Amino acid sequence: MPLVIEDRLKNAELQDVSPRHGVKVDTLVLHTTEGGSIAGAVEWWRRKEVIGSAHYLLTADRIERHVEEWLCAFHAGNRAMNRRSIGIEVVGKCGDPGLWSPAVMRQLVLLSADIVRRHGIPVLHQPGPGICGHADVPDPSNPNLRGGLSHHTDPGPHFPWGRYLDDLRAELRRPTA
Ligand SMILES: [Zn+2]
Repeated sequence: MPLVIEDRLKNAELQDVSPRHGVKVDTLVLHTTEGGSIAGAVEWWRRKEVIGSAHYLLTADRIERHVEEWLCAFHAGNRAMNRRSIGIEVVGKCGDPGLWSPAVMRQLVLLSADIVRRHGIPVLHQPGPGICGHADVPDPSNPNLRGGLSHHTDPGPHFPWGRYLDDLRAELRRPTA
């Protein structure tokens, strides 16, 4: 299945975004929405009391772009990290070991490869420059703690980092059309 991205950028004015202030993108941050649907995640972001947004929402059969990559989205709970990163939210719960199906992993690898190629992001599991989970992002108020300001643990203990990075490297070795 090829990479298909549905643009939902018309919602951008409803979301929490800011300029990157000249900071170059060098990091990809992976998340889980902790909900069951794209619609649920969008509804959550639209709540006035919720400060949150991400560039992409991803399921086994759909990828939506909600924030343009040149804008800073609010997904990492760390302003410096938000400015240097692109956020992907996988729809599902980080405590669910069944979330990382072959179809979801395939979608995630294809989208990651596209982003990594365009921005020259190193394929290393580290909190910038590289690819990390929300769980790896430093708490800006206490660098000994992780998961951003709210200590999130996504994408969780079941996320197959080794397989993901191997498959991503294999995808990047394939010639582009
Ligand atoms: Zn998260």
